[in-house]
Amino acid sequence: MMQIQGPRPPPQAVATREMKVSVIIPAAGLGTRMGRSAPEKEGISRKQFMLLNGSPILVHTIRKFVSSPSVNEIVVALRPDDVAWAEELFKGQHFGKTVRTVQGGESRQQSVENALATLGNDTDLVAVHDAVRPFIERDTIEKVIAEAAATGAAIIGIVPVDTVKQVHRNKVRATLPRERLILTQTPQVFRLDLLRRAFERASQDLFVGTDESSLVERLEQVEVSVVLGTDRNIKITKPSDMELARLYLTLENSVFEMPRG
Ligand code: C5P
Repeated sequence: MMQIQGPRPPPQAVATREMKVSVIIPAAGLGTRMGRSAPEKEGISRKQFMLLNGSPILVHTIRKFVSSPSVNEIVVALRPDDVAWAEELFKGQHFGKTVRTVQGGESRQQSVENALATLGNDTDLVAVHDAVRPFIERDTIEKVIAEAAATGAAIIGIVPVDTVKQVHRNKVRATLPRERLILTQTPQVFRLDLLRRAFERASQDLFVGTDESSLVERLEQVEVSVVLGTDRNIKITKPSDMELARLYLTLENSVFEMPRG
């Protein structure tokens, strides 16, 4: 079940300042689609550690949440080998907000589950955001948190510009009605109790999803709201995404903004 938040204004800061909001950033992926052009420990072969303007992509992503007024703490899931050096790296950043690490797992879902297990019961809302989406806008973070504060579950989506088809091998099986589709991004934000229940149920059923919303949807307990995002919130996945990332970073750092499509 899904409801798109259309032109109505976002719920006004529904007491989010009094809520404890924790952000989980899964960053334990191997990034095999990126190729292996350099030793991993140098921090330049896996996408979350590739450098943009001198800082790893993960650090750019963390900075967005550090500067978001609604966020209280940030938990980063890392491969065990990366924990020590990443903690050193974070220390040098002087984030001014709690940024801690946990060990990630073999899948994205397991990495998020490990981080979820470390959250205090005083947490109200949990936002999960891919380490490799450094161009999330602060305004979008605030909107999706406010929507989840009001409804219990909210995700970011953009409308597809291409027509999406279901296929089997190279044969088309169906054309999906575009006006009823969204492309899902992160952050995805949920009430702590809801997300914990969703992970418990997924684990009982051996269900593995590609996002947290799919786990929450299976509970059939709340309708997940969709907050419209922008196509700048790219997931850096392929080597060519780095070219776009460099452009977006330049735009972010410049006073001139490109008109949004
Ligand atoms: O590989 P995928 O596109 O699903 O990665 C999405 C995010 O999940 C990335 O930030 C990646 O580092 C993270 N991930 C993780 N643990 C894994 C696999 C992926 O934290 N075992």
